[in-house]
Amino acid sequence: EYKSLSGERMLEIRKRNCNPITMRNTYYKKHLHVHQGYMQWLWDINGRRYLDLFSGVATVSVGHCHPKVNAAAQKQMGRLWHTTNIYMHSPIHEYAEKLASLLPDPLKVIYLTNSGSEANDLAMLMARVYTGNFDVITFRGGYHGASPYAMGLTSMAAYKYPIATGIGCHTTMCPDVFRGPWGGSRCRDSPVQTIRECNCSPDCCHAKDMYVQQLKEVLDTSVSQQIAGFFAEPIQGIGGVVQYPKGFLKEAYRLVRERGGVCIADEVQTGFGRTGSDLWGFKAHDVVPDIVTMAKGIANGFPMGAIVTTQEVANALTRGSHFNTFGGNPVACSIASSVLNTIEEDGLQQNSAHVGTCLLTELAKLRDKFDIIGDVRGKGLLIGVEMVKDKVSCEPLPGVEMNEIFEDCKDMGLLIGKGGVYGQTFRIKPPMCITKDDADFAVAVFGLAIQRQMERRL
Ligand code: PMP
Repeated sequence: EYKSLSGERMLEIRKRNCNPITMRNTYYKKHLHVHQGYMQWLWDINGRRYLDLFSGVATVSVGHCHPKVNAAAQKQMGRLWHTTNIYMHSPIHEYAEKLASLLPDPLKVIYLTNSGSEANDLAMLMARVYTGNFDVITFRGGYHGASPYAMGLTSMAAYKYPIATGIGCHTTMCPDVFRGPWGGSRCRDSPVQTIRECNCSPDCCHAKDMYVQQLKEVLDTSVSQQIAGFFAEPIQGIGGVVQYPKGFLKEAYRLVRERGGVCIADEVQTGFGRTGSDLWGFKAHDVVPDIVTMAKGIANGFPMGAIVTTQEVANALTRGSHFNTFGGNPVACSIASSVLNTIEEDGLQQNSAHVGTCLLTELAKLRDKFDIIGDVRGKGLLIGVEMVKDKVSCEPLPGVEMNEIFEDCKDMGLLIGKGGVYGQTFRIKPPMCITKDDADFAVAVFGLAIQRQMERRL
């Protein structure tokens, strides 16, 4: 029988032997000592149960220790762990075929990595080698990883170091229709903004045009004539679940391609059915990228990343030998195959759409009730609740208040996440197996925590 270390022992070891940043990122003042997980639930070392609405940052896609995925992992572990793909093994081929079948033409060639950062590193290399160009454009507020190459693509102060990353990386304004200077989402044409349908309101269209103009300016004034590529998350994740106005990405892709660049969709958070309406976030934007990067939910928390691209782009990389010891590991591939099967068999994309819409609908009611909830947005089970000092100033709610609400939710058995460029957005990205009852519980707890915060303010 496995016996967990005590909380005090863990803290002692953390202080002495662990990366100090993990101390800062322990999230809670009163630490959470997690012992076990099952589906949408986590248990701490004292046996207390929590509803996990963050799933290790949108990573546990089908549920903690999902029995089907566990069985697939255990079977493969008993058969073969590793070959570095110098020999042929079935799991990688089974997975490549299965994943490719879920993407539109001409996205049919798969590369496997161990993380999202690695996938984005490789995508950047591909874009540059394929186009023969160097400059790359990303959004401010975007997160694409922490390796030096990917850090250059990331544009969030908290994740940057003063070192020479990002040579040739340029940013354009994130088309944020809540916090951005041109607004767009404050119009309330529909009583419940479950999905950002305000995208087609006149205000939003104006905002979209202004953001397209910003991108044009970067292309005209900041970069060389021809560019290598454009990276964008279909919905910005760590940046605070930011949804772009309808039509923006389509125009951006056109402009980028006009300049010789390829378009890269970072589906690390938005992929695998989380947005409910589709398996991939890019679909809602009516675009087909040249390269798609994936990680997190791909293997339900087992370390894995992937790139899907076209034969033409992949061919460009054959002039060198791209090598990755663990990428395409048989255990990872078996797990990832089982995740795809489980999403389908358990109807998880449909569940994301259904429970996600219920959550958004109920959270929007809290937004209308409380002055400190500025915006509720998202799609499926990728939801952001942007907190403000008040609805008139719309200034970000200070960190101290965010933390009080956050801690209160945890004490009542609900785990959520934080994000946004000012740390002002609560993020909800649960395992996709959560139920309507879980959503009701979550909204009740969250509403109570906000109510208490309003009382503390008096
Ligand atoms: N892209 C996005 C959109 C992400 O959210 C993340 C991780 N938070 C990454 C890339 C990097 O993935 P990893 O941490 O697996 O390197």
